[in-house]
Amino acid sequence: MTLTGIGYDVHRVQEGRRLVLGGVELEHHAGLVGHSDADVLTHAVMDALLGAAGLGDIGERFPDSDERYRDADSLPLLGNVVTSVIAAGFEVVNVDTTVIMEAPRLHPYRDRIRANLARALELPQTRVNLKATTNEQIGFVGRNEGVAALAIATIRDR
Ligand code: MG
Repeated sequence: MTLTGIGYDVHRVQEGRRLVLGGVELEHHAGLVGHSDADVLTHAVMDALLGAAGLGDIGERFPDSDERYRDADSLPLLGNVVTSVIAAGFEVVNVDTTVIMEAPRLHPYRDRIRANLARALELPQTRVNLKATTNEQIGFVGRNEGVAALAIATIRDR
């Protein structure tokens, strides 16, 4: 049996913040606001996995109100989610993602981001895809007010 889950996340853009995607810090004058490192891509991946396994969402698991997650690196939290998915009797098949962002260009960082996510997911890099698109200067992403990420995860029972 295979199961599928989706994830979606948005974080607000602010001057002087770090821009971390898939555990890689991108060089840019502005970054993302959040309780943790605001790694919007990793958050979307976590929600996709939790959705596929029927395990709720990251808001329940890692609440904003919990001081343990202040400025936390999100990649280890993804590792925690993967451990739970495996403990629930599943293995991860693949993950596909899209980052929707006007700037900077994601391309120079793509391989490093994929490698980080693949390591956390215990998958070969070919099973972890990363796509990037802009929002054509429309809406909150288009005005550089936020960055959005989508993810879809497929898991199967072992
Ligand atoms: Mg988030």
